[in-house]
Formats: sequence, C-alpha cells, structure tokens
Amino acid sequence: KQFADFNISDPIIRTLEGLGYTEPTEVQEKVIPVALAKNDVTVKSQTGSGKTAAFGIPLCELVDWEENKPQALVLTPTRELADQVKEDITNIGRFKRIKAAAVYGKQPFAYQQAELKQKCHVVVGTPGRVLDHLERGTLNIERIEYLVLDEADEMLNMGFIEQVEAIIEKLPKQRTTMLFSATLPENVAKLQHKYMNNPQHIEI
Ligand code: AMP
Repeated sequence: KQFADFNISDPIIRTLEGLGYTEPTEVQEKVIPVALAKNDVTVKSQTGSGKTAAFGIPLCELVDWEENKPQALVLTPTRELADQVKEDITNIGRFKRIKAAAVYGKQPFAYQQAELKQKCHVVVGTPGRVLDHLERGTLNIERIEYLVLDEADEMLNMGFIEQVEAIIEKLPKQRTTMLFSATLPENVAKLQHKYMNNPQHIEI
C-alpha cells in the first residue's frame, strides 16, 4: 500500500514525501481509509506506531481550508504531547496551509486566546485548559466535526474523565470521533459506548 492509494490529495502526498514517509505504517494503513470515510474508530496501538499521522493525515485532508472556525479537536493527556501533535499536524498540512493551535495549562491564557482568535483548523489541547476556554467562550466549537481522544487511557489515568466528558457533551453531535489508546480498560470502553457511533475496532 502507498499513500497515493488512499483518497489523499496532492498537497498532502507531497508533504509526506518530503517528510520521508515512503509508505504507511500498519496503523496508518488501517485507520486512514476509515477516518476518510468519516466513520468512528477505536484504535489500540502504542506510541511509535505512527498513530499521530494516522489521524493527522485524514484530519488535514478532511478540513475545509476556507472555514475559519476550528473543525477538529484533539485531546491529549500532556502538554508535551499536545505540542508534538500540533507540530506533526502543521508539518503534514504545510502545503495546504493548515493551522493548528495548542492549548494547555501553565501557559498564559491570553496568548492562547489570541491564537484561537485567528484562523485555526485544528485545536490540540489538554482537557483542563480546553474546558477553561470553552467556559470562557474563547474557543468556538460550533464547527467541530472531528474529535480525537489521543492516549485515552493515559488521559483517564491522570484523572481527566470529568473534563473529557464535559467537553464532549458540548460538542456538536454530528461528528466523527477517533479514540487512540495503548490499553482498553473498562473506563475507556465506557467512554466509547457513551460517545461514539458504531466505532470500527482496530488493533495493532
Ligand atoms: P508516533 O507513533 O505518532 O509517535 O510516530 C512515531 C514516529 O514515526 C514519528 O517520529 C513519526 O514522524 C514517524 N512516522 C510516522 N509515520 C511514518 C511513516 N509512514 N513512515 C516513516 N516514519 C513515520
């Protein structure tokens, strides 16, 4: 399988070549077509499998560049991961000029508020700070069509369950949800049953 075998447009294919991604990893091969078809998906895979690009590539492909309000929200357990995901998505979406913003605690609220006021396709953040922005009205989620729960087991281990649920409850119901987790304990399964629509299960 090649990236060109998927329904991925030229600007994204060119970037992948530039990044040296000559062929999809297993998780990418399995997840990309499901995500591009806008089906919900639960993915059990480890860090290092190429999971970030497995959702980053379809997100970059699917978002409408013209729309100024955020269309995708990625929740991560840590600031470091939020920064990493933002960077990866910015790289993958470079030729399409995809804008990603990262929001997390311990960084001035005003700085993030200014970033969120500009054109932004993908918002990546930790649950506490994302919820903060929602409650203060500084993050517009009217147009969110894609939700990614990255390292879902870690997020719940860190005690973010209430924030994660509060965020999901506020999002548009008409959306595609992708859940990535190294393990699938009961609390992750519960989240899946409660908020996902007939998800396809992929295990690497
Ligand atoms: P991740 O599992 O998302 O943390 O990715 C692990 C590493 O694999 C990162 O350094 C990526 O840049 C790299 N990577 C992701 N997809 C590919 C690919 N298709 N070919 C080569 N490297 C990749």
